[in-house]
Amino acid sequence: MHMDLVAALDIGGTKIAGALVDDRGRILARAQQPTPAQEDGETVMGAVDAVLAELTVSELWPRTRAVGIGSAGPVDRSAGTVSPVNVPGWRDFPLVSRVREIAGGLPVELVGDGVAMTAAEHWQGAARGHDNALCMVVSTGVGGGLILGGQLHPGPTGNAGHIGHISVDLDGDPCPCGARGCVERIASGPNIARRALADGWRPGADGDASAAAVARAAHAGDPVAVASFERAAQALAAGIAATATLVEIDIAVIGGGVAKSGDVLFVPLRRALRDYATLSFVQRLTVAPASTGTDAGLVGAAAAALRSDSARGEVQRQAV
Ligand SMILES: [Zn+2]
Repeated sequence: MHMDLVAALDIGGTKIAGALVDDRGRILARAQQPTPAQEDGETVMGAVDAVLAELTVSELWPRTRAVGIGSAGPVDRSAGTVSPVNVPGWRDFPLVSRVREIAGGLPVELVGDGVAMTAAEHWQGAARGHDNALCMVVSTGVGGGLILGGQLHPGPTGNAGHIGHISVDLDGDPCPCGARGCVERIASGPNIARRALADGWRPGADGDASAAAVARAAHAGDPVAVASFERAAQALAAGIAATATLVEIDIAVIGGGVAKSGDVLFVPLRRALRDYATLSFVQRLTVAPASTGTDAGLVGAAAAALRSDSARGEVQRQAV
């Protein structure tokens, strides 16, 4: 039988999703469990086990040749461990060896969720056809990943491109990561909402004080809401411009819940980018919303596994 599928796992703080994915990115089987995020490590692993058990009983499983995992970070790709901030029971948890055991010894590729989203956008989304791209997730946090020279660049630990924690405000507010003035501390959804509230914006009758509510107020012309999005856009632009200047990307793709705000984010973002991306070799940089949907994590985990699998095949072919 043709071994042409990969198993994908998308591990987040609220759900653990799994799928069997073909080499064109189509999802042929699915499984999902809620993440028992506040339980001990073995209980969380039990949920992963249940997702994999559903996949391994599929009649398609014998065609599976590798497993790709995209996990909330930090991850350590070289050690095969994960320590997701929002899953305290997992610290340096040996996820790769545990999954390999359940998957009958198949090769397992682990990347952070930002890197997985990047792989998905490069394979099927807005970064398709771009050899040098930064892809970002702007939601509760801010994550990202890089495509360099046409290849996914996860870095040794699988966290490269983590743009949320580069500082764009040297003496700015302390960030939970320990640094100051990080992109995430200014541009994440909760921080957009926090700043709007601090500056006098008030939620409507429904009491919704989320970034999505601030976005609706900004669309309606509320100046405080508009200003909070402009500040977020400025932080994102400074981070994107720094990345472009360092490694010469030609597109920045932005996904996640905050990206759904549309023009109230993207118009000031493109404007701010002109202020920060000034050198000749970064002036043609474009910004686009992500186009892979809710399956980006699964498709990206599959892409990471397919790429590393083909890379291994390449090495073997060269060795012959
Ligand atoms: Zn930080």
